[in-house]
Amino acid sequence: RVATAPDPTLLVRRKAALGGELSPLFYREPLQVVRAEGPWIYTADGRRYLDAYNNVPVVGHTHPAVVQAISRQAAVLNLNSRYLHSNVVELAERLVASMPDGLDTCVFANSGSEANDLAWRMARVVTGRGGAIVADLAYHGVSEATAAFSTNTYPASARPAHVAVFEAPRDPRDDGPVAIARVGAARADLQRAGHDPALLAVDSVFSGAGILTPRDDFMRGLQDATRAAGGLFLADEVQAGFGRGGRNLWRFQDFGLTPDFVTLGKPMGNGHPVAALITRREIAQAFSEVDEYFSTFGGNPVSCVAALTVLDVIEQTGLVAHSGAVGAELRAGLEALVPELPVRGQGLMLGVELPDAAGFAERLRAHGVLVGTTGPGGGVLKIRPPLIWTSVEVDRFLIAFQQALG
Ligand code: PMP
Repeated sequence: RVATAPDPTLLVRRKAALGGELSPLFYREPLQVVRAEGPWIYTADGRRYLDAYNNVPVVGHTHPAVVQAISRQAAVLNLNSRYLHSNVVELAERLVASMPDGLDTCVFANSGSEANDLAWRMARVVTGRGGAIVADLAYHGVSEATAAFSTNTYPASARPAHVAVFEAPRDPRDDGPVAIARVGAARADLQRAGHDPALLAVDSVFSGAGILTPRDDFMRGLQDATRAAGGLFLADEVQAGFGRGGRNLWRFQDFGLTPDFVTLGKPMGNGHPVAALITRREIAQAFSEVDEYFSTFGGNPVSCVAALTVLDVIEQTGLVAHSGAVGAELRAGLEALVPELPVRGQGLMLGVELPDAAGFAERLRAHGVLVGTTGPGGGVLKIRPPLIWTSVEVDRFLIAFQQALG
C-alpha cells in the first residue's frame, strides 16, 4: 500500500495504537511522509523538504541501484541464513577486507542493537568478566544489555552495577592521559561493585553528548587503557560508519584504532534492515565453544544485496571523499553565518550549539529543511544528511538556516 493523500485520522490513530508517548514523533505537527528521492522527502500535503537529518539513506533516498537490487533478489529468493548463498559470503568478505588486519570475522544481525548485544555476550565469554564501560550520554541499543549501556536514555537510578561511565571528551583539549585517567576511574567504580571490565564501547562521534570531535590520542587512550585493564574495545560505527566522517569508510580509522569489535548498522542497507559485528576469529571461536548465535533474518540474501549495493555506490562514486569535501563546505558556511556559536563534528555529521535548538528546528522545518536535535537537554542542532549532498543542497540549507535565524 503506497500512501499518497493526507489522512486526517492518522495521528490520532497512531497515538491510540502505538502507545502515544512510547512512540513519539518529530515536530509539534508531525510530518505525514509519502515519498522520498535523493536528498528530498515529500509529504502528503504536496510539500517537499530537504533532508538534513537522515543518515540511514546514506546514498540518497530510494537510490535506484539499491531499490533494483532489493527487488530483483526479493523476486528470486529470500530465506533464513542457514543456507549457502553468494550474497552473504561476498558481503562478509567485502566488510572484512575493509577492516584493519586481524578483524577477519563477520556476523550478521538485523539492527545495531543486536550487533552490540552480541559483542557484549562475546566479550563476557572471552574475558570471563562481567563489567562494561561506556560514555555518558551514549546510545547503544534497545536490548536489555545495550539499553543499560545507553546512558543518554536509561535512567541513571536504574543503571546496573556492572555498567560504569566515563565522561565524554567535551573539552577539545581532552587528550590521551585524560582518557586513560577516565577509564581508570570507571574501572575503579566497577571494582568497587565487584566487577572487572570485559568491554568498553564507544560511539566515536559522541552523538548523544552533542556531537563531539575527540582528539586521536583521547580515542587511543580509551583503547589502550581498556586493553591494559584486560578488557576488549568496541568501536560502535552504527552511526559514524560508511564514510560519514569524510576521511575513511570507518570513523575509528581516523584515530588509528584497532578495535576488537566493530559494529555496523543504520546506513548499511540504505533503509533495509541489516547490521553486522566484525571481530577476530579467536574471539568468535572462543564464544562458539560455549554459546551459540543464530539470527533468522540476520544476513539474508535480500539484506546482503542491499548492503553490497550500498558499498558499490560508495566506492564507485567516491562518496567518502565527497562527504569530506561537502561537509567542509557546510561547516565553513555555518561558521560564517553564526561565528559566535560552536560548530562541532567532522564530515557530514555536524552539531551546532544553539540557545533554542528545538524552536530553531521547527523554524527550519517551516523553511523546508529537516534537522534533528541532540546533546544535553536537546540543545544541539544535529545535521546528518545523506552523503550525496552537493554544493546545491549546502546552499539551500544555508539560505534556510539564515531565514530561520530571522
Ligand atoms: N549504536 C549507535 C551509536 C546508534 O546510534 C544506534 C541507533 N541510534 C544504535 C547503536 C542502535 O541501532 P538500532 O536502532 O539499529 O538497533
